[in-house]
Amino acid sequence: MANRNNLKQSAPSKRKIIFVASECVPYAKTGGLADVIGALPKFIAGLGHTVDVVLPRYGRISREGLHLVAPSLSISMGENLKFCSVWQANQQPVTGLSLYFIDCPEYFEREELYGDKAGDYKDNAQRFAMLSRAAIEFSKRSDEAPDIFHAHDWQAALVPALLKTEYNGDWFFGKTCAVFTIHNMGYQGLFDSYALPAAGLPVHTFHSAGMEFYGQVNYLKGGIVYADAITTVSKKYSQEIQTPEYGQGLDGVVRERAADVHGILNGIDYSEWSPAIDPFIAQKYDPKNLEGKRDCKRDLLREFHMPEDLDRPLIGMISRLADQKGFDLVAQGIQELLATNASFVVLGSGDTKYQQLLQRISDLQPQRFGLRLAFDNKLAHKIEAGADIFLMPSRYEPCGLNQIYSLKYGTVPVVRATGGLDDTVEPFSSTTGEGTGFKFDDYTSSALLRSVREALDAFGQRETWNRLMRNGMARDFSWTASAERYLQLYETLLSRHAD
Ligand code: ADP
Repeated sequence: MANRNNLKQSAPSKRKIIFVASECVPYAKTGGLADVIGALPKFIAGLGHTVDVVLPRYGRISREGLHLVAPSLSISMGENLKFCSVWQANQQPVTGLSLYFIDCPEYFEREELYGDKAGDYKDNAQRFAMLSRAAIEFSKRSDEAPDIFHAHDWQAALVPALLKTEYNGDWFFGKTCAVFTIHNMGYQGLFDSYALPAAGLPVHTFHSAGMEFYGQVNYLKGGIVYADAITTVSKKYSQEIQTPEYGQGLDGVVRERAADVHGILNGIDYSEWSPAIDPFIAQKYDPKNLEGKRDCKRDLLREFHMPEDLDRPLIGMISRLADQKGFDLVAQGIQELLATNASFVVLGSGDTKYQQLLQRISDLQPQRFGLRLAFDNKLAHKIEAGADIFLMPSRYEPCGLNQIYSLKYGTVPVVRATGGLDDTVEPFSSTTGEGTGFKFDDYTSSALLRSVREALDAFGQRETWNRLMRNGMARDFSWTASAERYLQLYETLLSRHAD
């Protein structure tokens, strides 16, 4: 048997891989998952493989631009038989990559992805059971079985669970392996036990070594337990989730699978996020010519109706407003933060409690604390380009994309040393001039303040700051290396399976 931890070196054959996920840019996005699903399949297909991506057709995704490929699939959900159709995007982003949409109006024809003001949609267990089941059933319409089903987060976690249980004896999937990627342990798809029959899951999955979790059904746990390999989106997070502090109750389950857990850092799609070609920013720039960044700063300050004081350091934040992201630290330290010479621009959407908290701060000092409570991709690009410093004080961060975008935009990250933030930001040393940003360990506002002050000191020294910006801009976090690592993992699994 192949050594489980040693990934094979080369990917000899052309493989067929099916990605199943609930988000993908430009169709549906609430966070980093969408960026990953919009990019990684392109890079895998670019290496000569066939990749299908299966997504829900939410209400916000128009049928224009799609064509019907399967008018009616019957999907068995427990005692109920449901129907869906499958649509394919007319545009193929790259050769070898096809995007498919599961169209089931009863479940997906809604304004939002997972819930509205009233909370999570009550039938999320069934909605995402439909996604996984339809992806599996649709794959059977093809002459060729997939080599790999690659499922992402709890919304697609039933793919590995179903393949290993209900579809276990299905000859069609005889050679198929399942990979499950955890983008965030904090979202598990936890439902009352009635979800099991409603989703038509085999009763024998409801035990502690299966999907049962303290009397409830836990979809994420199903992905972890039943997949052939589990990946998460940075090396550090793959270790953290095996500890009680970061495991969100599932650390023991992950430890059981430790030999099959891999940390593969997310890449960045530099065709979307690069100041040299970004269509959303006021002036393009690159490491050789940073002048344009000042224009971007001016433009950003105007956008927030703040004084155009270009010498005052500007700290940016772009984030889902969730407990994970460290806004409580910002709130605790706000007086000291505003006592520095920095101004802030914050773009966020999410929890009402954080909206209100940030609004109160902004109302007190609108000239110093610009706030936009929205999800606005264009403004996110403008902040990456126009801010001097990017603040990401996350309690935990599986990978984090914004700090990596920031590096490319010469916007120096100040981060908490957790998960992917720790793996991607190198501490700056004023003695050697090496490093790309500032990080702190303790989840306290005083530790955050120390790092912010360090960054502001460096900002005050023009030469030092230019060096710091250029160090970050020179780092390469493109998808190429990570896509290769996924392929190596697929090959290792397939050869183990064939043994
Ligand atoms: P997470 O997936 O936990 O939300 P990441 O840093 O991995 O965090 O990815 C967040 C992605 O979502 C980034 O592309 C970021 O620019 C984007 N994003 C987050 N909040 C907003 C917002 N309010 N407006 C626009 N883009 C946002």
